[in-house]
Amino acid sequence: MKVCFDTDLIVRYGGRGPRYTSYPTALQFNDTLTADDYRASAIASNTSGVPLSLYVHIPFCHSLCYYCGCNKIVTHNQARVDRYMEMLYREIDMQSELFDKGRKIEQLHFGGGTPTYLDSEQLDDLMAKLRSAFTFDESADREFSIEVDPRTVDEDSIRHLAELGFNRLSLGIQDFDPVVQEAVNRTQTTDDVLGLVLAARDAGFESISFDLIYGLPHQTAKSFDTTLDLVIGMRPDRLAVYNYAHLPRRFKGQRMINDEDIPSPEVKLEILHRTIDNLCDSGYVYIGMDHFALPDDELVLARANGTLQRNFQGYSTHRECDLVALGVSAIGSIGNVFAQNSVTTMEYETLIENGQLPIRKGIAVDDDDLLRADVIQALMCYDKLSFDEFGTQHNIDFRNYFATEIEHLRPLADDGLIELDQAGVEITQKGRLLLRSIAMVFDRYIDQAQNDNRFSKAI
Ligand code: SF4
Repeated sequence: MKVCFDTDLIVRYGGRGPRYTSYPTALQFNDTLTADDYRASAIASNTSGVPLSLYVHIPFCHSLCYYCGCNKIVTHNQARVDRYMEMLYREIDMQSELFDKGRKIEQLHFGGGTPTYLDSEQLDDLMAKLRSAFTFDESADREFSIEVDPRTVDEDSIRHLAELGFNRLSLGIQDFDPVVQEAVNRTQTTDDVLGLVLAARDAGFESISFDLIYGLPHQTAKSFDTTLDLVIGMRPDRLAVYNYAHLPRRFKGQRMINDEDIPSPEVKLEILHRTIDNLCDSGYVYIGMDHFALPDDELVLARANGTLQRNFQGYSTHRECDLVALGVSAIGSIGNVFAQNSVTTMEYETLIENGQLPIRKGIAVDDDDLLRADVIQALMCYDKLSFDEFGTQHNIDFRNYFATEIEHLRPLADDGLIELDQAGVEITQKGRLLLRSIAMVFDRYIDQAQNDNRFSKAI
C-alpha cells in the first residue's frame, strides 16, 4: 500500500510517541528483573527450541558525530578496547552456557558505536569466539549484518567482512552534502561510499542498507534532494531515513550544533514529503515508520509472508527467534522476558569480572502485555487487524477485551487515519506516517510515559 502525505494530519498527530521497537517499551524496564530471572527464562526457552538471534554491541568510535544519541565511547585508548573485549568474551561464555547447542544462530547483528572500529584481527577473534560458543547457521538463509562507518573501512575490509560470514551491510551515510557533514563533524566523500557499495556487491553482500538523517544543520529540501539523487543512484536495498531529534540538554555532543542552523519544522516536513515521494517514485516500497526497501528485499517479502517484526533494530525478519544480546547496554528478548545490560561500561565490566551476568534491568511481560504487543506488531508491520482472526488466535473476544481502545480509535477514524468497522481496523494511506500515534491507543503505559515527556516526536 502507498503512503499519502497529509500535512495537516501530521502536524496534529505527529507529537511525541514511542517507536515501539518493543512493547512494553524500554521505559518500563526496571531493576526488579534480575540476572537470575533472565537465566531461568533462557533455560526454560530451550524447550521451545526456537532459533536464536544474536546482537553484539561494540561501543567505540574514533570521533564524535555531533548529532549522535547512541551509547558510545569516543576513544583512541586501545587498552580500554582490549579490556572491553575481554569482558565481552566472558559474557559470551556465560550466555552460551544457557542455550542448547541445537539452537542455531540464524540472525546476527553487530551494532554500536562503530563495530568496524575493531581491526581485522579483532573481528576475526570475535567471530571465532562466537562460532565456538554458539552454533551458527552457515546456510545461505542466515542473516548476518554489521553496521559500517564508511570512514573506518576500505574495499579490502569489506571483502574481509564477507569472508567472516556477514552477508548484510548497513552504511551510516546521513547526508552527502559537505556543508552538512562539516556541521556534524562527519565527513565522508560520495566516491568513497560508492567504492564501498561496489566492493560489497562484488563480495556478494545480499543486502546493503543506508541510514540517512533529516533535520540536520544546513539541510534544505533542495540539498537533501541532491543527497537522495546520489543515494538512489547507488541503489541500496534498504533505506532508513531518521528524524534528527535536537536534545542538547540530554546529549552533550549536540551542543556543538547551532540551534539557528537547524531547519525549521516546515522545512523538515518538506524534506520528509519529498523524500517519500522520491523514494516511492524510484521503486522503493514504504515499509513503515522510517524504513524503505526495494520490492525484492526480505523486508518486503517478510511483510507479505507474515514474518516481519519490530525489534531493537527497527523493522526486521526472523520474528520467531529469541534474541540474545551481548555487550554494554544491549537489550535481549527471551521468551517473555526483556533484559538490558548495564548502560555504563564500568559497571558492565565490573559485574562480569565478578562472575555475574551484566543485566541491570528489564521486564517479565504478562499476558496482557503479550496481547497488546501483538496488536501493536500487527498495526506497525501489516497496517491492519481483523478482530475475529486476532481473537481466535489469542483466545479472547477482541471487541470486549479492547472495548475502550476501540472507542479511542473512533476519532482517528473520523480524521481519516484508519478505517474502522465491526470486522477490524485498517490503516489508511494518510495514517501510515502516523503509525505510532495509532499504536499508542493500545499502550496501557502511555499516559504515565507521555506525562514524563520522554519520547521523541513522531515526525
Ligand atoms: S553516529 Fe555512529 S560513529 Fe558517530 S558518534 Fe554516534 S555511534 Fe559513533
